[in-house]
Amino acid sequence: MVMPMSASSCAINSQQCVLPLNVHRCASGSYQNVARDGFLCLESWRLSGRRGGGLCQHVKVGRKGRKVVSMVGGVQVQERSKDGVAKEDAVQTVVIVGAGLAGLATALALHRVGVKALVLEQSGGLRTEGTSLSLFPNAWRALDALGVADKLRGSFINITGARMRAPDGKVIKEFQNSDLSGGPHELRAVERQSLLRVLAEALPSDTIMFNSRVKNIRKPRDMQSLTEVELENNTVIRTKVLVGCDGARSVVASWMGRTEPKPVGQTAIRGLSDFKSNHNFEPRVEQIIGQGVRAGLVPVTKNKVYWFVVFNTTPSVPSRISDPNKIKEEALSYIQGWPSDIQECIRNTPLESFSRSNLRDRWSIPLVTPQQAANGITLAGDAAHPMTPNLAQGGCTSLEDSIILTRKLCEALRTEKKEEDPSVLAKRISSALIEYESERWARTFRLTVKSFVFGSLLALDSSLICFFRDNVALPIAFRASVVFGSSKFDCGALPPPLD
Ligand SMILES: Cc1cc2nc3c(=O)[nH]c(=O)nc-3n(C[C@H](O)[C@H](O)[C@H](O)COP(=O)(O)OP(=O)(O)OC[C@H]3O[C@@H](n4cnc5c(N)ncnc54)[C@H](O)[C@@H]3O)c2cc1C
Repeated sequence: MVMPMSASSCAINSQQCVLPLNVHRCASGSYQNVARDGFLCLESWRLSGRRGGGLCQHVKVGRKGRKVVSMVGGVQVQERSKDGVAKEDAVQTVVIVGAGLAGLATALALHRVGVKALVLEQSGGLRTEGTSLSLFPNAWRALDALGVADKLRGSFINITGARMRAPDGKVIKEFQNSDLSGGPHELRAVERQSLLRVLAEALPSDTIMFNSRVKNIRKPRDMQSLTEVELENNTVIRTKVLVGCDGARSVVASWMGRTEPKPVGQTAIRGLSDFKSNHNFEPRVEQIIGQGVRAGLVPVTKNKVYWFVVFNTTPSVPSRISDPNKIKEEALSYIQGWPSDIQECIRNTPLESFSRSNLRDRWSIPLVTPQQAANGITLAGDAAHPMTPNLAQGGCTSLEDSIILTRKLCEALRTEKKEEDPSVLAKRISSALIEYESERWARTFRLTVKSFVFGSLLALDSSLICFFRDNVALPIAFRASVVFGSSKFDCGALPPPLD
């Protein structure tokens, strides 16, 4: 018996392998593609039974026989015919949407405890653009728990202090991290692409499916039914747990009914300067606070420095600029006459590293925010708690999410029995996700609000109020204990792997 299926796509590491094939199921239960358009297809899919679903192997077929190349995520892929009828069942324990920081960290945490996850990423590879993320002690604890922190520590400068200045160079306040007891207070600005690469490299090579944009989610009303995730190429994947890690404009969050993050009235331009040889910056965070404009820099490596310029989004500010030359011009225009170090950083930034975004956040309140945890669907990272970057905690809390979500899920899956009624497992998963969400909400809601308030203080633009801010409020508020206050959180270790 031959059952036609449509095309599917997968990617192993960043190497894309689209399978524009006709795949057929043979009587033996294996899948084989056949000649199409007069060409001999060199790939096929073979399925074999496995607890909780099938095992899908990516098989390379040559003229002299077949050779297994790799397994794709332990996932069964369900294809739909033109009439939309499902052709094959598909089951996955955990599907993660998005291979950003939250998605990769969650997949890795699950991998460390022996739970296989499939990550669906819309792009053709890991994000290579972008600048750096300042990672505070709470992030380093999570990276330690994931077992990858030491792969990053050696490459990025340990930041030992901070200084805040006025645009004329006058120091408003400075401190050393060591002023604060209970250290070490580890702070490093890590290049985003290195962070993503280190996380991805620690994952089994078949974990991420690139070119897999999720367009729709379906959840039958009965709780024990699996969630269906539909990709843009009409592939449908069924899963017991769905984790939306697809960023601030999350498809999963919007399917849940969450509102779009709202602009807070500030625009950020950032970049990573490359000095080619050693720069002479002290290992400290520099912030320069003006009226309705602020800028800052953080040394990243011996020759790279991360910088940002944030300004109020007044009606005359264009909502979008994509030409990097114009973005550079705009950034420089806001800091004319400011200390030369920040200008030097901008001038030494390769054009491809400039990025510009309107800052947004969402204040999620459980009673009025639609939840889906009871249905085995949850969110992590920016999808769950988009916040402004004023405390540099968005990425740090995404890492915390990965450990805490995994700990909760691990408990639910640990007691899974072989012949268990699916509704019993569904109930345990649902309780685990409800606990995860309430625990995370308590932390991330506070940070979202705190970050907004701090950003609003820095964005003040009236000269009288700014005089009070710079001479009274900031000298009190800008202290090591306040800056590191949010990063005391310890997400804890991962539990031992499941049997
Ligand atoms: C100006 C600025 C400065 C910042 N500085 C810091 C800092 O110093 N420290 C810090 O900790 N945080 C910082 N942040 C926050 C940090 O960048 C985010 O919190 C972090 O990137 C969130 O990661 P994420 O994985 O949740 O989302 P993202 O990084 O947005 O990743 C989402 C992924 O999902 C994919 N995706 C989206 N939709 C789909 C779909 N439908 N199907 C499949 N895939 C999809 C995307 O392609 C992407 O790969 C800053 C943010 C901004 C804006």
